Amino acid sequence: KGISTVYVEAGTEGLSYGGLEDKMGWRSQPTRQVQFDNCNISADDLVGEEGKGFTYAMNGLDGGRLNIAACSLGAAQQGLTQTLAYMAERRAFGKPIDQFQALQFRLADMEIELQAARTFLRQAAWKLDNNAPDATKFCAMAKKFVTETGSRVVNQCLQLHGGYGYLADYGIEKLVRDLRVHEILEGTNEIMRLIVARQMLAGQ
Ligand SMILES: Cc1cc2nc3c(=O)[nH]c(=O)nc-3n(C[C@H](O)[C@H](O)[C@H](O)COP(=O)(O)OP(=O)(O)OC[C@H]3O[C@@H](n4cnc5c(N)ncnc54)[C@H](O)[C@@H]3O)c2cc1C
Repeated sequence: KGISTVYVEAGTEGLSYGGLEDKMGWRSQPTRQVQFDNCNISADDLVGEEGKGFTYAMNGLDGGRLNIAACSLGAAQQGLTQTLAYMAERRAFGKPIDQFQALQFRLADMEIELQAARTFLRQAAWKLDNNAPDATKFCAMAKKFVTETGSRVVNQCLQLHGGYGYLADYGIEKLVRDLRVHEILEGTNEIMRLIVARQMLAGQ
């Protein structure tokens, strides 16, 4: 309602960047505020139509949400693959820890959860590619489900590595830190629920 998209050329007076943020994860990607202080721009810098900025941003978010979910899925799969290898190698009480049935059940649960997440993500991507009327709802549902599944899986991977999981050398604690923000970015998972519930209440 009244928001427009404008193009601001790099170097424009008043455009500046905040300090580098110190983050829990995503440390290989710099994060800074983008600040616009009385930037002087012309009407020619309007992108698309006046007043449609919010709609453009929202349209971009569906794909962005799938992207974030895919990052969680890939990282969680990497964590699980690494964990499976580690469990075959690590021995406790006279046998490799992958021979304990309690842990095998956890492995099975993680495999099932990741496969469900993968299938859901692909369904949402298919809907977006095909302009399905419920694509936004599916992108929101998939983002929430896949990112929370990914976080749960990597946290389990850390647990199955024992104390080594907590050490930076094994790379698992990095996955836990990196995936946490996926529940916040590109719209928090509370907002994903809001989108889903609104569409349900509207009968969609
Ligand atoms: C590493 C990183 C990189 C980022 N990169 C970008 C970027 O490139 N571009 C960009 O634009 N932004 C970026 N962000 C910002 C990010 O998109 C926001 O932090 C995120 O959307 C949440 O908004 P907020 O922080 O204002 O939370 P708030 O809106 O303050 O929310 C606080 C809490 O209240 C909950 N909440 C808020 N409203 C409701 C409601 N109506 N119902 C229920 N719960 C609610 C939220 O879910 C959350 O749990 C980045 C953030 C981080 C951490």
